Amino acid sequence: MKRKIVFATNNEHKLAELRELVGERFEILSLADIDCYGDIPEDCPTLEGNARQKAEWINRRYGIDCFSDDTGLEIDALDGEPGVHSARYGGVAHDSERNIDKVLSKLQGVPQARRTARFRTVVCLILDGEEHLFEGKVEGEILTERRGAGGFGYDSIFHPFEADRTFAQMSAHDKNAISHRGRAVAKLVDFLSNL
Ligand code: IMP
Repeated sequence: MKRKIVFATNNEHKLAELRELVGERFEILSLADIDCYGDIPEDCPTLEGNARQKAEWINRRYGIDCFSDDTGLEIDALDGEPGVHSARYGGVAHDSERNIDKVLSKLQGVPQARRTARFRTVVCLILDGEEHLFEGKVEGEILTERRGAGGFGYDSIFHPFEADRTFAQMSAHDKNAISHRGRAVAKLVDFLSNL
Protein backbone atom coordinates (compact mmCIF):
# COMPACT_ATOMS: atom_id res chain seq x y z
CA MET A 1 0.00 0.00 0.00
CA LYS A 2 1.23 3.49 -0.82
CA ARG A 3 2.24 5.72 2.06
CA LYS A 4 0.08 8.85 2.39
CA ILE A 5 1.68 12.26 2.61
CA VAL A 6 -0.10 15.59 2.52
CA PHE A 7 1.29 18.19 0.15
CA ALA A 8 0.32 21.54 1.71
CA THR A 9 -1.26 22.95 -1.43
CA ASN A 10 -4.43 22.98 -3.50
CA ASN A 11 -2.64 24.14 -6.63
CA GLU A 12 -3.65 21.60 -9.30
CA HIS A 13 -0.56 22.32 -11.41
CA LYS A 14 1.74 21.51 -8.51
CA LEU A 15 -0.20 18.42 -7.46
CA ALA A 16 -0.04 17.12 -11.04
CA GLU A 17 3.71 17.82 -11.21
CA LEU A 18 4.28 16.06 -7.90
CA ARG A 19 2.14 13.05 -8.74
CA GLU A 20 4.05 12.68 -11.97
CA LEU A 21 7.28 12.63 -9.93
CA VAL A 22 6.35 10.41 -6.97
CA GLY A 23 2.91 9.00 -7.76
CA GLU A 24 4.13 5.45 -8.08
CA ARG A 25 5.45 5.25 -4.55
CA PHE A 26 3.40 7.74 -2.55
CA GLU A 27 -0.21 8.81 -2.39
CA ILE A 28 -0.04 12.59 -2.45
CA LEU A 29 -3.03 14.17 -0.71
CA SER A 30 -4.03 17.79 -1.18
CA LEU A 31 -5.29 20.11 1.55
CA ALA A 32 -8.82 19.59 0.26
CA ASP A 33 -8.35 15.82 0.67
CA ILE A 34 -7.89 16.36 4.43
CA ASP A 35 -10.66 18.99 4.61
CA CYS A 36 -8.25 21.81 5.32
CA TYR A 37 -9.74 24.99 3.89
CA GLY A 38 -8.43 27.78 6.14
CA ASP A 39 -5.63 30.17 5.26
CA ILE A 40 -2.25 28.79 6.29
CA PRO A 41 0.09 31.42 7.72
CA GLU A 42 2.99 32.27 5.42
CA ASP A 43 4.50 35.54 6.59
CA CYS A 44 8.22 34.87 6.97
CA PRO A 45 10.88 36.93 5.15
CA THR A 46 12.56 33.82 3.65
CA LEU A 47 11.49 30.85 1.52
CA GLU A 48 12.90 28.51 4.18
CA GLY A 49 10.88 30.19 6.92
CA ASN A 50 7.65 30.03 4.95
CA ALA A 51 8.08 26.37 4.00
CA ARG A 52 8.65 25.44 7.64
CA GLN A 53 5.79 27.58 8.88
CA LYS A 54 3.30 25.88 6.54
CA ALA A 55 4.45 22.32 7.22
CA GLU A 56 4.49 22.85 10.99
CA TRP A 57 0.99 24.33 10.89
CA ILE A 58 -0.44 21.30 9.04
CA ASN A 59 1.45 18.81 11.16
CA ARG A 60 0.33 20.39 14.42
CA ARG A 61 -3.33 20.56 13.47
CA TYR A 62 -3.76 17.30 11.59
CA GLY A 63 -1.03 15.12 13.09
CA ILE A 64 -0.12 13.79 9.65
CA ASP A 65 3.12 13.47 7.67
CA CYS A 66 3.31 16.35 5.26
CA PHE A 67 5.51 18.58 3.18
CA SER A 68 5.19 22.10 1.94
CA ASP A 69 7.08 24.11 -0.62
CA ASP A 70 7.82 27.74 -1.09
CA THR A 71 9.15 29.12 -4.34
CA GLY A 72 10.50 32.47 -5.39
CA LEU A 73 11.75 33.96 -8.62
CA GLU A 74 14.96 35.85 -7.77
CA ILE A 75 15.93 38.45 -10.38
CA ASP A 76 19.48 39.77 -9.96
CA ALA A 77 18.83 43.21 -11.50
CA LEU A 78 15.97 43.68 -8.99
CA ASP A 79 18.09 42.69 -5.97
CA GLY A 80 16.41 39.30 -5.68
CA GLU A 81 12.84 40.50 -6.16
CA PRO A 82 10.13 39.28 -6.35
CA GLY A 83 11.53 36.49 -4.10
CA VAL A 84 9.14 35.66 -1.26
CA HIS A 85 6.67 38.11 -2.80
CA SER A 86 6.41 36.20 -6.10
CA ALA A 87 2.75 35.21 -5.70
CA ARG A 88 1.43 38.76 -5.25
CA TYR A 89 4.13 40.90 -6.83
CA GLY A 90 1.63 42.71 -9.07
CA GLY A 91 -0.61 43.51 -6.10
CA VAL A 92 -3.20 40.74 -6.49
CA ALA A 93 -2.50 37.23 -5.18
CA HIS A 94 -1.88 34.66 -7.92
CA ASP A 95 -2.60 37.07 -10.79
CA SER A 96 0.19 35.89 -13.07
CA GLU A 97 -0.49 38.39 -15.83
CA ARG A 98 -0.10 41.33 -13.45
CA ASN A 99 2.97 39.78 -11.86
CA ILE A 100 4.61 39.36 -15.28
CA ASP A 101 3.64 42.88 -16.35
CA LYS A 102 5.32 44.30 -13.25
CA VAL A 103 8.52 42.32 -13.80
CA LEU A 104 8.69 43.34 -17.47
CA SER A 105 8.10 46.98 -16.67
CA LYS A 106 10.71 47.05 -13.87
CA LEU A 107 13.21 45.45 -16.25
CA GLN A 108 12.47 47.77 -19.12
CA GLY A 109 15.75 48.92 -20.68
CA VAL A 110 17.83 46.34 -18.80
CA PRO A 111 20.05 44.58 -21.38
CA GLN A 112 19.61 40.84 -21.87
CA ALA A 113 23.00 40.03 -20.31
CA ARG A 114 21.85 41.59 -17.02
CA ARG A 115 18.45 39.88 -16.90
CA THR A 116 19.76 36.81 -15.05
CA ALA A 117 17.43 35.12 -12.56
CA ARG A 118 16.71 31.87 -10.84
CA PHE A 119 13.75 29.98 -9.51
CA ARG A 120 14.43 28.59 -6.04
CA THR A 121 12.23 26.15 -4.17
CA VAL A 122 12.54 25.06 -0.57
CA VAL A 123 10.63 21.96 0.53
CA CYS A 124 10.03 21.24 4.20
CA LEU A 125 9.11 17.66 5.06
CA ILE A 126 7.83 16.65 8.48
CA LEU A 127 8.01 12.90 8.82
CA ASP A 128 7.43 11.07 12.09
CA GLY A 129 7.81 14.42 13.86
CA GLU A 130 11.22 15.27 12.31
CA GLU A 131 11.85 18.19 10.01
CA HIS A 132 13.92 18.04 6.81
CA LEU A 133 14.68 20.83 4.28
CA PHE A 134 15.46 20.34 0.58
CA GLU A 135 16.40 23.04 -1.95
CA GLY A 136 16.21 23.11 -5.75
CA LYS A 137 17.38 25.85 -8.12
CA VAL A 138 17.37 26.57 -11.83
CA GLU A 139 19.39 29.40 -13.36
CA GLY A 140 18.13 31.37 -16.34
CA GLU A 141 17.11 34.76 -17.68
CA ILE A 142 14.02 36.92 -18.02
CA LEU A 143 12.95 37.58 -21.60
CA THR A 144 11.49 40.89 -22.79
CA GLU A 145 8.16 39.32 -23.79
CA ARG A 146 6.05 36.23 -23.13
CA ARG A 147 6.80 33.04 -25.03
CA GLY A 148 4.65 29.90 -24.85
CA ALA A 149 1.24 29.04 -23.44
CA GLY A 150 1.91 26.15 -21.05
CA GLY A 151 2.85 26.11 -17.38
CA PHE A 152 1.82 28.82 -14.93
CA GLY A 153 3.13 31.81 -12.98
CA TYR A 154 6.21 33.37 -14.57
CA ASP A 155 6.87 30.42 -16.91
CA SER A 156 6.36 32.36 -20.14
CA ILE A 157 9.11 34.90 -19.42
CA PHE A 158 11.67 32.55 -17.85
CA HIS A 159 14.26 30.94 -20.11
CA PRO A 160 16.31 28.33 -18.23
CA PHE A 161 19.90 28.27 -19.52
CA GLU A 162 19.75 24.48 -19.82
CA ALA A 163 17.05 24.63 -22.50
CA ASP A 164 16.35 26.41 -25.76
CA ARG A 165 12.79 27.32 -24.76
CA THR A 166 10.88 28.97 -21.93
CA PHE A 167 9.23 26.85 -19.24
CA ALA A 168 5.89 27.73 -20.87
CA GLN A 169 7.04 26.06 -24.10
CA MET A 170 7.88 22.74 -22.39
CA SER A 171 5.80 19.72 -21.46
CA ALA A 172 5.29 19.20 -17.72
CA HIS A 173 7.63 16.22 -18.01
CA ASP A 174 10.47 18.23 -19.59
CA LYS A 175 10.01 21.09 -17.14
CA ASN A 176 10.09 18.73 -14.14
CA ALA A 177 13.41 17.32 -15.31
CA ILE A 178 15.24 20.63 -14.81
CA SER A 179 12.97 22.79 -12.69
CA HIS A 180 13.57 24.22 -9.22
CA ARG A 181 10.64 22.26 -7.80
CA GLY A 182 11.58 19.12 -9.74
CA ARG A 183 15.06 19.28 -8.22
CA ALA A 184 13.87 19.98 -4.68
CA VAL A 185 11.36 17.17 -4.98
CA ALA A 186 14.00 14.82 -6.42
CA LYS A 187 15.96 15.36 -3.20
CA LEU A 188 12.79 14.74 -1.19
CA VAL A 189 12.08 11.53 -3.13
CA ASP A 190 15.67 10.39 -2.78
CA PHE A 191 15.43 10.91 0.96
CA LEU A 192 12.13 9.03 1.23
CA SER A 193 13.41 6.18 -0.93
CA ASN A 194 16.41 5.67 1.33
CA LEU A 195 14.56 5.53 4.63
P1 IMP B 1 4.67 29.11 -4.39
O1 IMP B 1 5.47 29.38 -3.19
O2 IMP B 1 5.01 27.81 -5.02
O3 IMP B 1 3.19 29.31 -4.19
O4 IMP B 1 5.10 30.14 -5.51
C1 IMP B 1 4.94 31.52 -5.37
C2 IMP B 1 4.74 32.13 -6.73
O5 IMP B 1 5.92 31.89 -7.53
C3 IMP B 1 3.59 31.53 -7.55
O6 IMP B 1 2.39 32.21 -7.27
C4 IMP B 1 4.04 31.77 -8.96
O7 IMP B 1 3.74 33.10 -9.36
C5 IMP B 1 5.53 31.63 -8.86
N1 IMP B 1 5.96 30.25 -9.23
C6 IMP B 1 6.14 29.20 -8.40
N2 IMP B 1 6.54 28.11 -9.10
C7 IMP B 1 6.59 28.51 -10.39
C8 IMP B 1 6.92 27.81 -11.60
O8 IMP B 1 7.25 26.62 -11.65
N3 IMP B 1 6.86 28.55 -12.72
C9 IMP B 1 6.52 29.86 -12.74
N4 IMP B 1 6.18 30.54 -11.66
C10 IMP B 1 6.22 29.86 -10.48
